[in-house]
Amino acid sequence: MSGLTLAPLSNFDIGGVCAAAIAIVAYRTRSLTLGGAFAAFVVGTATYGALALPGAAVLLAFFVTSVALSRVGKARKAVVLADVDKTGARDGAQVLANGGIAAACALLALFIDHRFAYAFAGAFAAAAADTWGTEIGTLMRGAPRSILTFRKIATGLSGGVTTAGMLAEVAGAFAIAATALLVRPDAFVPVACAGVAGALADSLLGASVQSLRWCPNCNRATEREPHTCGANTRPLRGLSWFGNDGVNVSATLVGAVVAFALAR
Ligand SMILES: [Zn+2]
Repeated sequence: MSGLTLAPLSNFDIGGVCAAAIAIVAYRTRSLTLGGAFAAFVVGTATYGALALPGAAVLLAFFVTSVALSRVGKARKAVVLADVDKTGARDGAQVLANGGIAAACALLALFIDHRFAYAFAGAFAAAAADTWGTEIGTLMRGAPRSILTFRKIATGLSGGVTTAGMLAEVAGAFAIAATALLVRPDAFVPVACAGVAGALADSLLGASVQSLRWCPNCNRATEREPHTCGANTRPLRGLSWFGNDGVNVSATLVGAVVAFALAR
């Protein structure tokens, strides 16, 4: 026996190494920007550090299905999502908008109250429901309607709903809720409800306060400034500073609160 003693690795050490490896792969395969990869490293380290493998399973269930679904029908989405705020590789703000609330809840579960573990999964259920709804709903034909006015709007614009998209939202919420059974054996109902509530909040905010602009060159509504045609756009509706990231933070917060409230 040598006199060398090694301190046992903590979950934060293990999580940091694994999260860094996954973030580097996601960066190199253009699923994440450099900022997105760093944010994913932070979220992944906090998640594994606080909730170990069960938490990592929930995070990966969201992350892997999001990346996979975003790659299905990529050519078609590039056309129909031309007016959507953010597409392509996820940047740091997008990663934190989807995973920041969850990561904070994971740490609160470790240090404050075990019910934050339900909130952690509820936040990811909301993020997954929204992502599944957008990605699968976009692939389906048929014009979405505004969740508030029921008028037809362009495919992929925030606040638009289709039957297929809403079924996909429920499926996404259920998928995370099933994985959350690893975190807490009675987590399914709170987390599924959280996911559906979060996706509903996402659609309602997207149809009302989220910034929507108008391109005078193309005569169409868009979330982009400048528009993809190069022209400058003017405000049409909503708060100019409240984009897709703001909506996602709000939706995951709703998911976290609902899951916490329903937790035992
Ligand atoms: Zn234009």
